[in-house]
Amino acid sequence: MKPIAVYPGSFDPLTNGHIDILKRALPFFSVLHVIVAENADKSTLFTVEERVNMIKEATNSEKNVVVTSFKGLVVDYAKKVKASAIIRGLRAVSDFDYEFQLATMNRRLDADVETIFFATRGKYFYISSSAIKDIAKNGGDISSFVPSAVELKLKEKFRK
Ligand code: ADP
Repeated sequence: MKPIAVYPGSFDPLTNGHIDILKRALPFFSVLHVIVAENADKSTLFTVEERVNMIKEATNSEKNVVVTSFKGLVVDYAKKVKASAIIRGLRAVSDFDYEFQLATMNRRLDADVETIFFATRGKYFYISSSAIKDIAKNGGDISSFVPSAVELKLKEKFRK
């Protein structure tokens, strides 16, 4: 039986970079829980519900993917669903400090849950949720950076 993993993040919004990590991680696990952080301190463009729904729409053809939101610690959620791995993506060196700190802290909190990193594909190297929001806000073409469900939602947001 393959292990279970969680893929946590803000996903504000989901990008093709996130999807690439998800698809590459999926074959190694029996279930991959994509978990959207409910963090009241972080201001987001999309509500938690909107973010969960966009991810559900973009991944509905994938079996073994569960999409939900969570409050609190990732390791607690992992324990609840019996996950033994936390999936994270790495882009530039600038991701490393933060991700290393997070992974180390999570291991201190629960040594049974291992963080596994997937290096981004070259073509997604420069894609971040914040850059996408910026481009969409200024009327740029984001169709090659995000799934179509997300593109539509972004257009709706900035039309208002
Ligand atoms: P957080 O707010 O927790 O950093 P994000 O939603 O921004 O969450 O990202 C979730 C994870 O996906 C992080 O590990 C991030 O580094 C990774 N990620 C984001 N964009 C990309 C990308 N283009 N390629 C690879 N990994 C990515």
